[in-house]
Amino acid sequence: MKDLKILSRKSEEDSIIVDVNGLKIGGNSIVVIAGPCSIESIDQALEIAKAVKSFGAAIFRGGAFKPRTSPYSFQGLGVEGLKILSRVRDETGLPVVTEVMDTRDIDVVLKYSDILQVGARNMQNFPLLKELGKIRAPVILKRGFMSTIEEWLLAAEYIALGGNTNIILCERGIRTFERMTRNTLDLSCIPIVKQLCRLPVITDPSHATGVREIVKPMALASIAAGADGIMVEVHNDPDRALSDGFQSLTFSGFKDLMDGVVKISRAIGRGIAGCLS
Ligand code: PEP
Ligand code: MN
Repeated sequence: MKDLKILSRKSEEDSIIVDVNGLKIGGNSIVVIAGPCSIESIDQALEIAKAVKSFGAAIFRGGAFKPRTSPYSFQGLGVEGLKILSRVRDETGLPVVTEVMDTRDIDVVLKYSDILQVGARNMQNFPLLKELGKIRAPVILKRGFMSTIEEWLLAAEYIALGGNTNIILCERGIRTFERMTRNTLDLSCIPIVKQLCRLPVITDPSHATGVREIVKPMALASIAAGADGIMVEVHNDPDRALSDGFQSLTFSGFKDLMDGVVKISRAIGRGIAGCLS
């Protein structure tokens, strides 16, 4: 890829390892990011964070600014949600990741979280990417559901060109004609991205499938295919979740997923970042 000037891989040793408060993403260890789709209250967030931490998650996720298809759906708690996230970080010690949708929110999101997420709908929001190039905090760049691998990598190059190479790519499913799943998880992008690009790559099997029961097999398949981690949605009461409850794992579902993650990682000679390492 001609225009992948900063991020193209030239050798095996070329990998960019993203450091999140000492936690390494893109090295030998698999990172598991887990938490609710949306932050709903301090009690909900803390209960979920403590549970996922006890089962081996290394990073907590939770949306405060939510990109919802319908303007009538829950839009997230905004800054109040960010404050809850930082309390969760203080109480559990887990780094936190949340989405930033608007350049005007970058400063406040940076104040309360460790990793900034660019959602699928914003993958080609070039003003946002350029601004994120100016910071040094890690960015999770989700693949747009209508975007090719090339477009995704060039979006990452926008951030890198500003000087921020702390980028984690996240495949979250692309839109195909298949309707049994919310999206289609493109597993083949993992080895392709690994070959072309220096960045770590993770997958989000929750948004990729939209079906709770197939999150685990797709998470394990991602790790087997070479992903550096996974990000999954977990909820204490999925039936009452304010967003994406149908694809959120219960605590026991997450524990079961982690058992599989440990086994697969061990089988391919990789460790687990954070708690279990
Ligand atoms: C999310 O992870 O909260 C999210 C909205 O995902 P995506 O941007 O992949 O739809
Ligand atoms: Mn969600």
